[in-house]
Amino acid sequence: MENKMSFYNTLTRKVELFVPNEDGKATMYTCGPTVYHYAHIGNLRSYIVEDLLEKTLRYVGYDVKRVMNITDVGHLSSDADTGEDKMLKGAKREHKTVMEIAKFYTDAFFADCAKLNIKTPDVVEPATNCIAEFIHMIETLIKKGYAYESGGNIYFDTAKLDEYYVFSSQSEKELLVGVRDDVDQDENKRNKGDFVLWFTKSKFDDQELKWDSPWGVGYPGWHIECSCISMKHLGEQMDIHCGGVDNIFPHHTNEIAQSEAYLGHKWCNYWFHVHHLNDKSGKISKSRGDFLTVSLLESKGYDPLVYRLFCLQSHYRKPLEFSFEVLDNMSAAYDKLVKKIGMLDKNGSVDQAKFDAYRQKFEAALCDDLNSSMAVTVLYDMLKDDMSDATKYALAESFDEVLSLNLTTAHAAREADNSVDAKLERYVLDQIEQRKAAKKEKDFARADAIRNALLEKGIVLEDTREGVKWKKA
Ligand code: AMP
Ligand code: ZN
Repeated sequence: MENKMSFYNTLTRKVELFVPNEDGKATMYTCGPTVYHYAHIGNLRSYIVEDLLEKTLRYVGYDVKRVMNITDVGHLSSDADTGEDKMLKGAKREHKTVMEIAKFYTDAFFADCAKLNIKTPDVVEPATNCIAEFIHMIETLIKKGYAYESGGNIYFDTAKLDEYYVFSSQSEKELLVGVRDDVDQDENKRNKGDFVLWFTKSKFDDQELKWDSPWGVGYPGWHIECSCISMKHLGEQMDIHCGGVDNIFPHHTNEIAQSEAYLGHKWCNYWFHVHHLNDKSGKISKSRGDFLTVSLLESKGYDPLVYRLFCLQSHYRKPLEFSFEVLDNMSAAYDKLVKKIGMLDKNGSVDQAKFDAYRQKFEAALCDDLNSSMAVTVLYDMLKDDMSDATKYALAESFDEVLSLNLTTAHAAREADNSVDAKLERYVLDQIEQRKAAKKEKDFARADAIRNALLEKGIVLEDTREGVKWKKA
């Protein structure tokens, strides 16, 4: 098929035409979340953009296979045996086991993704499923002379590579500023850039999850999971590897080092990185107390898809500053947009020539380094154009395969949600919850008062074995 998609490749520092390894097919790997807390909306910017990339590739005709890992083991906040083990930190905070934390926040992550219409990748693989693969890769690296044992841990020897800092022309010294804290502390390393493949001697001796290995009981380092999981599902050559810009160094740099040393050939051709969402005070991060989540946006009355539109209106290669003022404007724009589309009369004939012309413009915008704001402009332009409602509706439906903003369904859903019946149902369910809480606190007078107040409004509550049911009297 004709290759027409271009995007910025961090490896070559250029916008490049995407040419996959196999004609018509595209393999994609996405670094998944570390499931020790809710995802913040910054993390979700990366996943929205990666979703957009996947859907654009599909839209222009590629058969895409996309894989994502779930980081449910280890993941220190730095490369050496320093910083904090994020999973352990989460488990301690909530008095749960690491696996309970992982399960809870994996589910929460996919629930947020669903609200943002982010498609679940074809394969989702938790790191804890692949320990045998990690051990095999590490054993091979040792055999090939790329890894060594020191102080009970296994390290990757970066001095064995011709080029370690593949992503940047910056000097080694400059890059190491980011890991400065570790550098002095880990005396087991032969070279400053070396990184851990397997820990058996860690300062985290209360680590919950440990596995037997040829080097003793321990657990994997931070980077090995992405190399192994992507190879397990996508083979030895991959087209696109995605992540946020913070992943460039050290995570992706180390992934390339160990993968190519293991394989003995080039591994991934295109590296796609999404810039950060910031707030006025800087980068949004999970470690900061009250961080921004999808639930927080919902509790303030925003439709999560308004946040998706906000992300689509910016370019992924620019940092994006979040503010509620901008989100308010976006919310008003979204309301108008879905209302306009919702009012279109979809019955009628579609003008195929117009349809094709607009679809081409839309594709051209997205194929031009994923210019999503231009793609949204094409949507607005076509809605203003002089053509049949049916053509506009068909185009909106088609564009939504990529934009995923519920363009043709949101208006009707909102109308239904605002109907008298839906409002009544929400009110009664809320009263039932309050009555349950009152009973739990043994405040039976309040529980009865709630029941009686509902009865006065013509609502009868029935306590059944399956819970409280309600009906109109
Ligand atoms: P984590 O759960 O920390 O492993 O991060 C999940 C994804 O979110 C990674 O691809 C990160 O690069 C990305 N990420 C982290 N912080 C931000 C941010 N402020 N804006 C956009 N992406 C981010
Ligand atoms: Zn990764």
